Amino acid sequence: MPGLCIAAIFATSITSCNNQKSESKMEMTKGITKASFGNADGKEVFLYTLTNAKGTEVKISNYGGVVTSWVSPDKSGVKSSIVLGFDSIAGYLAKPPYFGALIGRYGNRIAKGTFKIDTAVYTLATNNGANHLHGGLKGFDKVIWDASIENDSMPVLKLSYLSKDGEEGYPGNLNVAVQYTLTDDDELKIEYNATTDKATVINLTNHSYFNLTGDVTNTILDHQLEIDADNYTPVDSSLIPTGEIAPVKGGPFDFTKASKIGARIDSVKGGYDHNFVLNKKESTLQKVATLTDDKSGRKLEVFTMEPGVQFYTGNFLDGTIKTNDGRAISQHTGLCLETQHFPDSPNQPKFPSTLLGPGQQYHTVTVYKLSVSSK
Ligand code: BGC
Repeated sequence: MPGLCIAAIFATSITSCNNQKSESKMEMTKGITKASFGNADGKEVFLYTLTNAKGTEVKISNYGGVVTSWVSPDKSGVKSSIVLGFDSIAGYLAKPPYFGALIGRYGNRIAKGTFKIDTAVYTLATNNGANHLHGGLKGFDKVIWDASIENDSMPVLKLSYLSKDGEEGYPGNLNVAVQYTLTDDDELKIEYNATTDKATVINLTNHSYFNLTGDVTNTILDHQLEIDADNYTPVDSSLIPTGEIAPVKGGPFDFTKASKIGARIDSVKGGYDHNFVLNKKESTLQKVATLTDDKSGRKLEVFTMEPGVQFYTGNFLDGTIKTNDGRAISQHTGLCLETQHFPDSPNQPKFPSTLLGPGQQYHTVTVYKLSVSSK
């Protein structure tokens, strides 16, 4: 199937486009194909291709729930992937920084890897200096999810995972289900559900790096971004929020009107890696950000139920990771808009709570909607 090769624009060189063997065994179900993606932890993992009526293709693996590619046409009809990813499992086993992955139990940082629930103190892995990042040493991005294909009108991939009591230091058996749906309007809808048998903390997100040019040799600095956030959460030198909710007005964090990402990035030490406090108040699904790229004509709109979004400009990408065809993935060649509760909320009483208790249902939805203008 040529799709894998087209998607290889962001793919690693390790086994480029050699999935023919597995494709011959491919199963086709309701707009989703399933092919072998190799082995991880001694188990076979799979790559699911979701295709909608327009022919847009999104590929997702049950390894880490990673979105490996999202292929769509630009304004001239040229197809390429708008997310950074690899076309072989080897690319992911090399531990790229969370490319396309599901993040859990806790997206972003927990200071010193510790928090309290009532009087109980919990200690987590510290995998980012002195802090805990993105669920620890083996977060949800590195586990194998159970997968099932659901629904008959739209391609729906349902992933589920039982995170056992004590995993990475977190309390409670947490049953997580994440559903990816590709609609005919080119929306990738991500629906997260979870329950626990003991009080715990939870903050799930997806860590896709977008580059709307579809070409990793371009940075994202010319993309325009608008975020509906009057405030953000400033951080200390280890990227832990100070607890302050600060106004963005007039400064480099002000994306209340569409602005070029590169315009003010130099005045933000290290680049953007900050949580924006969304203006929306209720936990309803609302549009919170719009990303556009004039070159390709592509536009990505972000809708979420979450109170925050981590805007990260790929500051730590340094060219050591290579695409499938050997091109360096350099700084600022991808950006993340990780919808979330605020970093370090378990230690920040003024931030919206991330506690989940037995009998409660964790439910949150984020939608990334892609379109292209013909101009
Ligand atoms: C964090 C960054 C981190 C990146 C990749 C982002 O969500 O905010 O600090 O470097 O993920 O690990």
